[in-house]
Amino acid sequence: MLAILIIILFLLLLLAIAFIRALILPKKTSFYEGSKDEERSLDYALKLQKMIQVETVSSRDNNDPTKFRKLHKVMEELFPTVFSTCEKHDIDGSLLVRWPGKDHNKQPIVLISHLDVVPAEGEWLYPPFSGTIVDGKIYGRGSFDVKCGVFSFYQAVEELIKEGYKPDCDIYLGSSCTEEIGGDGAPKIVKWFDDHNIRPFMVCDEGGTITEDPMPGVKGNFAAVGIFEKGYGDIKIIAKGNGGHSSSPGKNSPIARLGKFINEIETKSPFKVEFTPAVEGMLQNLAPYCDNLLLKTVFHNLWLFKPVLKKVMPAISPIGAAMLQTTICFTMQKGSDATNVIPQEAYVTANMRYIPFQGKDESLAIVRNIAAKYDLEVEEITCSDPTSSLDLNGPQFAMTKKAIEKIFPNVCVLPYVVTGGTDSRFYDGHVDACVRFEPVNVSKQQLGNMHGINENLNIDTLPLAVEYYKEIIRLQEGR
Ligand SMILES: [Zn+2]
Repeated sequence: MLAILIIILFLLLLLAIAFIRALILPKKTSFYEGSKDEERSLDYALKLQKMIQVETVSSRDNNDPTKFRKLHKVMEELFPTVFSTCEKHDIDGSLLVRWPGKDHNKQPIVLISHLDVVPAEGEWLYPPFSGTIVDGKIYGRGSFDVKCGVFSFYQAVEELIKEGYKPDCDIYLGSSCTEEIGGDGAPKIVKWFDDHNIRPFMVCDEGGTITEDPMPGVKGNFAAVGIFEKGYGDIKIIAKGNGGHSSSPGKNSPIARLGKFINEIETKSPFKVEFTPAVEGMLQNLAPYCDNLLLKTVFHNLWLFKPVLKKVMPAISPIGAAMLQTTICFTMQKGSDATNVIPQEAYVTANMRYIPFQGKDESLAIVRNIAAKYDLEVEEITCSDPTSSLDLNGPQFAMTKKAIEKIFPNVCVLPYVVTGGTDSRFYDGHVDACVRFEPVNVSKQQLGNMHGINENLNIDTLPLAVEYYKEIIRLQEGR
């Protein structure tokens, strides 16, 4: 009895300490202010408009480089100084530009963003390849994903060259034309570096952005810097049987077994839940910005609340679950061809995203084990491991943080898990580090429009994006 009382008192003491620590943590605000220079914003938007007007939808069936070469032409007109100073390589429609620095032997950096876009279906407010500018926004496919990125680093280099600036190391601008179809554009650029025995110091790609209100109870604009990308897997789970007429069915038909399997996985996720340094860093950094004292207490005292959070986060939020564990989602299914025929074979497909501490092999083994209980086979369609993680104590993250803090002085930096896929995954293992951050500010609504209708971007975010890339280039001097 006494022992229980002591434990309760001890827990109360820990809670009191956590609560007091949160109470004395000063409240901070994180907010983004766009450029006040309207003329410069408009001037940039008009250049971006010209890039949007070249339709560059990539296609798995026939990714014709002609349309991408049309965009190269437009870019040569928009950034004449870049193209008259730098070395240009057209790698089957993907574009690699080398700006020679003072020291060719110093490891270069590579600024990347893709030239291709996803198709623009549906009814848009303005034609998707018009780049219409209305009320401080530019509309069009690629305005945010991600011609704004390509525009911003080309413009940064254009201006730096005109200012007479010479970078310390070589600066490469790499833009594949196959990102949206997961094609071989980026791998070919990576091969170019390998063939030339060049191992870049850092690759800066899209991934996170400056986003609004990252979670309930936390308001403001935060710079989400992608630390790693989860692995990707498409798998097929197959059930075989003897078929037959549905008027006299036996138990455990293929579809019933698939149903039981899905039910088991959906009811209780079989994957390990862990905090990665990215998630831990994100929650800790968010603590001073929480409006809600309870949330602030939890985030500021992960030493105490981590075990509880590990249980609660996946249960209350799909995004929380995606950040902490491998996920699986069932996406397609097929049975027999008639309503009154038991299939001899049925299948479901699933899309998996692997977390670094439980990669492709371990996650697939878990799925296979459960499948075996129901006499199911598992086939890999395409599977790749998670990328390595950016070191939060390394120079590349420090440089990124420094540039963000200089150009966006009121914006807090958050490490972030990229749950989608980007071209930078192909650079993994071929460069020292990948930073996944696009230096533009977007609202939740703009983030939602990304692959949908009415994709748009605030034009006052462009001047600061250009400044950010200039700063990243200048920061190479110190290393
Ligand atoms: Zn993209």
